[in-house]
Amino acid sequence: MIKEIELKCTPAQAQNDQVIQQMAAATCRIAVEDINQVQTLRRSIDARSKEPKVLLRLKVFIGENPAPQSSFLSELGPVTHEKSVIVVGAGPAGYFAALELIKAGIKPVVFDRGKDVQTRRRDLRLIQQFSLINPDSNYCFGEGGAGTYSDGKLYTGSKKRGPVKDILQILVEHGAHPDILFDAYPHIGSNRLPQIITAIRETIEKWGGEVHFESKITDLILEQNSVRGVIVNKETEHTASAVILATGHSARDIFYLLQDKGIRIEAKPFAMGIRIEHPQELIDQLQYHQKPRDPYLPAASYKMVTQVANRGVFSFCMCPGGLIVPAATAPGEIVVNGMSMAKRDSKFANSGMVVAVEPEDAREFQQHGELRCLRYQEHLEKAIFSRGDGSQKAPAQRMSDFVASKLSTDLAPASYIPGIYSAPLHEMLPAPIAQRLQSAFEEFGKKYRGYFTSEANVVGVESRTSSPVRIPRDRDSYQHVDIANLYPAGEGAGYAGGIVSAALDGQAVARAVAMNAF
Ligand SMILES: Cc1cc2nc3c(=O)[nH]c(=O)nc-3n(C[C@H](O)[C@H](O)[C@H](O)COP(=O)(O)OP(=O)(O)OC[C@H]3O[C@@H](n4cnc5c(N)ncnc54)[C@H](O)[C@@H]3O)c2cc1C
Repeated sequence: MIKEIELKCTPAQAQNDQVIQQMAAATCRIAVEDINQVQTLRRSIDARSKEPKVLLRLKVFIGENPAPQSSFLSELGPVTHEKSVIVVGAGPAGYFAALELIKAGIKPVVFDRGKDVQTRRRDLRLIQQFSLINPDSNYCFGEGGAGTYSDGKLYTGSKKRGPVKDILQILVEHGAHPDILFDAYPHIGSNRLPQIITAIRETIEKWGGEVHFESKITDLILEQNSVRGVIVNKETEHTASAVILATGHSARDIFYLLQDKGIRIEAKPFAMGIRIEHPQELIDQLQYHQKPRDPYLPAASYKMVTQVANRGVFSFCMCPGGLIVPAATAPGEIVVNGMSMAKRDSKFANSGMVVAVEPEDAREFQQHGELRCLRYQEHLEKAIFSRGDGSQKAPAQRMSDFVASKLSTDLAPASYIPGIYSAPLHEMLPAPIAQRLQSAFEEFGKKYRGYFTSEANVVGVESRTSSPVRIPRDRDSYQHVDIANLYPAGEGAGYAGGIVSAALDGQAVARAVAMNAF
């Protein structure tokens, strides 16, 4: 017999399998010995009361065992001598497309401008310590894409629950902790992601797929209205039946290339603002009503959203116990983002706090046509850089000073390794963004007492929240609306936002390629 039950327990109880078995037995009114296995279906935290509780949904197997699980890896076979498809980009969209192609019996040939995860680390160190930005290897470019040295949050707004579970299952089969299958807010962490990404590459190569690093796609080979292949590093020609373009939201040269070749692109809404950093202890206190937090509870997170003057203002990519990182992809820009380690044990809680930007808001950049949002984004990143000392030091202001439009005389402690300096961000940001953020902070402070504080810094500028450009594709065939065999995929194409949704999109595109291209 199988019973599904719900338990409410203390954070300490939730960590102890024996205690859970006993509680499950008591709930089912059976002896512990009668239980063959307890499977967790969902784990979440209810922090509404003074004593936060962990809610568990469990499947209890009584006198029987669970059926064996099917595995994604067991569905793969050799593709070395099969027809090939080019995948541009080794981010979540590109790698999950490659895996899905193998499943369909097609050989993926992946090109990425950056380096493998391990070698890429050295370039990140150069950014952090010496402000040296390699335009092909940084926090956005290189194996695993922008998702590698990220927070590794795996939540998505996607409604495709079944497929989401499949993505998480594939991650588990490549070394992720099985907890991600049932946690309400699954998370991997930057220290664990590289091994998982390496394992995914090993799977691709094991079955005959190819992965080429330091291989930047510099041109597309077109024949009438169809793509025939790509040019790598301005010299080598590679042809294939189809090209999946999964180059992410920061590959500006790809957007310029498409525009230069007359391939249709569209300006897309996105969001810009700042990253805000509070002491983690303060957020814990706000969410869990306790100080210090119960050691069995994870670092607390938050989500905020409001509307100010017809535009959404919202928290984005909140990283509890994390670090703010320099995420520029070219020298001469300042861009910040956030990440965390698996333990989420830093003293800081950072989150993007951004304002929605519609294409009509970029009217100053109208002359750039469909690239106007991208130009607006680029302009702000460069303008912010030009106010600094030429390094990756980021401008910052105490939250209370930002709202009061006042320069900070000193700043709160910060996690950002290149360093921060006091600057009037309320003036440096475009007025429609700064003013909406100021109003939103006051509102959030009223809703969540303690959130609006001088103990937090705002750090500029958070501009790479999503792609400012869409590469339009046909709804059914997933091919570009005008160019046959060109398959835009993932976040850069404007069809995903985040690791899981990019992976889902990569899979969907690969399935479409398998149906159409041969
Ligand atoms: C610091 C940081 C933290 C983040 N944290 C999270 C998080 O916790 N959770 C979450 O869901 N999302 C997070 N994100 C966002 C997430 O990483 C992206 O949404 C996701 O990686 C998009 O996947 P993608 O495959 O579409 O593109 P990308 O991951 O951007 O991958 C694109 C790839 O294409 C390659 N490329 C670009 N141009 C070329 C070219 N011309 N030739 C060859 N290769 C090229 C790049 O090197 C890159 O590897 C974070 C992003 C950053 C930067």
